[in-house]
Amino acid sequence: MASPADSPQQLFVQYRRAMAYIAPYWLRLAPVLAISLFATALGLAQPYISKLLIDEALLRRDMRALVGVAGFMLAVTVLSFVLSIVSSYRYVQVSAEVLFDMRLAVYRRLQALSPRFYAQTRLGDIVSRINNDIGEVQRVSADSILALLANIVSLAGGVAIMLWLNRRMFLLSIVLLPASILSLRHYQRRLTGQVRTMRERSADIGSFLIETLQGMRLVVTSGAEAHEIDRFRERNRGFVKSLLAMQLTSYFAGAMPGTILAVSSTILFLYGGKLVIDGAMTVGTLVAILAYHVRLLGPAQSILGVYTSLVAGAVSLSRVFELLDTPVEVAERADAPPLEEPQGAIRFQDVSFRYAGDTPVLEGVSFDIPAGSICAIVGPSGVGKSTIADLMLRLYDPESGSVHLDGRDLRDLRFEDLRRAITLVDQSPHLFHASIRENIAYAQPAANDEEIIAAARAAAIHDFIAAQPNGYDTLVGERGLTLSAGQRQRIAIARALLRRPKVLVLDEPTAALDSAAEKSITESLAGLVRGQTAIIITHRAALAEIADQVITLEAGKVVELACASRI
Ligand code: ADP
Repeated sequence: MASPADSPQQLFVQYRRAMAYIAPYWLRLAPVLAISLFATALGLAQPYISKLLIDEALLRRDMRALVGVAGFMLAVTVLSFVLSIVSSYRYVQVSAEVLFDMRLAVYRRLQALSPRFYAQTRLGDIVSRINNDIGEVQRVSADSILALLANIVSLAGGVAIMLWLNRRMFLLSIVLLPASILSLRHYQRRLTGQVRTMRERSADIGSFLIETLQGMRLVVTSGAEAHEIDRFRERNRGFVKSLLAMQLTSYFAGAMPGTILAVSSTILFLYGGKLVIDGAMTVGTLVAILAYHVRLLGPAQSILGVYTSLVAGAVSLSRVFELLDTPVEVAERADAPPLEEPQGAIRFQDVSFRYAGDTPVLEGVSFDIPAGSICAIVGPSGVGKSTIADLMLRLYDPESGSVHLDGRDLRDLRFEDLRRAITLVDQSPHLFHASIRENIAYAQPAANDEEIIAAARAAAIHDFIAAQPNGYDTLVGERGLTLSAGQRQRIAIARALLRRPKVLVLDEPTAALDSAAEKSITESLAGLVRGQTAIIITHRAALAEIADQVITLEAGKVVELACASRI
């Protein structure tokens, strides 16, 4: 597969797409660019002022003209300096907003992607794209694009003035230009691939760190510290190697065309000098032409350098766009009507589902769970129980068949309504680095203390929280590490109960609990979920006992549907 941005056309495609993010800011950006261009144009006047200085003041020995020209030069320099600062500052300000919009777009897309995407993608790679790649785009746009515009104006202005001063001298000054452009193209082609490799190696390091930091307990207890340091070193070596290769090419790409152009200065010097000696050109004109020529070299070189940055930026943009283009598996119907007063009846109708490959996880699964009942889903590990929960929350859609809430296909519901009606407590729930209160109220931020405490009591965690010195204000460590697995699970159950959903799905809610805690949760669940549908995925007999209905899965199929009268 050809890597993106490996040709000027591809480069153009990436930046044209990025323009969509700039468009809303156009009105604010236009004055900034106008000021910047005006400042550049002012800078262009300098060599011409030197010509005036020599031809009008020095050679004519005119003191008044000398003072006038010197004052003019000072005013032009100061004005151009001030305008450049103002425009750069405003430009960085606006570009930071544009880039945040881009980060936000990526973050929104990440929120819409299914767990399948997260199972297949390294977290470090995603973070690297949002952080490093958009950071790179920010750097390129801040440093390069404004410079590119300024340089194009300098170049065009310089060319026009040189043509006006002496056409033949101008042609001489650009005689070696084709050679420099050819060498540039050569290096740039190499550079694109190298930049992409370098970004990928950098993402490797990010992924390595995230993975091993998350698994530090395992690293330490397996005595794998030295092994991980070797792997870190190896990844760093890969990164430095690709960085050096890129730097070398980048250096040549920047220096070679400049060197070739410098040779043409010598030619100009000889030819122009002869014209002055022959009396065919004034000294001031020669000085001005030489100055413009040197000034052409600067912008020409910068434009070539900017091209290098633009290539790096385009590679980063393409990596960001790849994320943005990741297809959303489960989408909300735009015209989905609202769900009034859900009752909580769930129906699976001939549902089949597979993650990848040929083997379906679920095959023709059908069952009905009446509103307000307690249902246990049991079966051996890996049989697809959690997948059933994910299908109820529409984290996935079935490959065939359908899932219904109160007779309505979930695909016809708004996400907001669906996830208000059905709440899931995961097997290993996620807690944020925040207070216990905030963690319980996460999905219901407006809840008051009484409601939060009632939910915590029902989840048999209130006494534990109340015993903490800071009570509900106790901070949960990052990823909940200061709590035991069972405590985390009970906080998550409290969080779900607080939402008072019509359907509560609990995935192995007591897996991490001892039998005493399990008993107390089971008792409170049986009492609590009256009026709610409770679907409990479990392999514990105690939980199955409180159920009105037990669905037994085997090899992705329902093998038994047992109904019991409520105890
Ligand atoms: P259970 O909850 O019954 O233990 P799951 O529903 O978690 O089973 O998983 C059912 C099967 O699907 C298992 O074989 C598991 O390996 C596989 N599986 C689960 N999640 C994914 C995923 N994101 N990608 C690929 N396969 C998966």
